[in-house]
Amino acid sequence: MSDRGALSKKLRNAVDGVLCQSLVKRPHTLPSGRYVSICFDDFPKSAAVNGAPMIEARDWRATWYVSGGLCGTEHGRFGEMFTQADLRRLIRNGHDIGCHTFNHIDCSDASRAEIIGERERNAAFLSSFGVLDVQSFAYPYGAANLDCKRAMDTEAMALRGGKPGLNRGVTDFNMLKATGLQTDRGGILRALEDLESLSNSDGWLILYTHDVQDDASGGGITPDDLDQVLQAIEASGADVVTVGDMVQRLTGGKHPTLQWAA
Ligand SMILES: [Zn+2]
Repeated sequence: MSDRGALSKKLRNAVDGVLCQSLVKRPHTLPSGRYVSICFDDFPKSAAVNGAPMIEARDWRATWYVSGGLCGTEHGRFGEMFTQADLRRLIRNGHDIGCHTFNHIDCSDASRAEIIGERERNAAFLSSFGVLDVQSFAYPYGAANLDCKRAMDTEAMALRGGKPGLNRGVTDFNMLKATGLQTDRGGILRALEDLESLSNSDGWLILYTHDVQDDASGGGITPDDLDQVLQAIEASGADVVTVGDMVQRLTGGKHPTLQWAA
């Protein structure tokens, strides 16, 4: 992309970000209490092999935003991606499986038909693993505009963006905030600040990352850093819930299951 093209996309994203914060909202009042969710996006094999056992050792579970098209591939940034066996193990161990776009397309650059098609293709992929009731979707790159917010707007799923910070009080379930654990976004400092802030008042902190390895990419973190974050979560006393758990709590277990296309 040329400098001019990159600048105009940056400007467009900024405008879309402002519009998405105020329109096509689906407000829900969060339950009282302090909550943390941990998410892995895309997802790299190292997250399943190194990250999942660290979470399970605390008897917690995470939410995994799967892009079916990345299964069994080698990623230029994150390295080896998840395999079918990795996904099966996470499901067996009780983790929450969320939806990303099948080919990890940027929704802010896609038509409504493309977004729906990607979601349905990903849902068909997940259903082949027995995952029929997907309760949340994460916008790849945290990127959205009003069209894709409208395209994804359904009572059946919570939608997660990429704006850092705590979700508090009345929260837009079409654009949940989430703080990245990424070496290219200040590493874990923002997450530790958010956890500190959560220790003083109610809210829901959603954390996300990608690879978990010693030589982490800019989008991931090292096992040592993840351990530090998990220790801080434990010290905060917040309840660790999956994103799916929170959707269930808000709907009193009457979560309207999205009927995926076969
Ligand atoms: Zn992603």
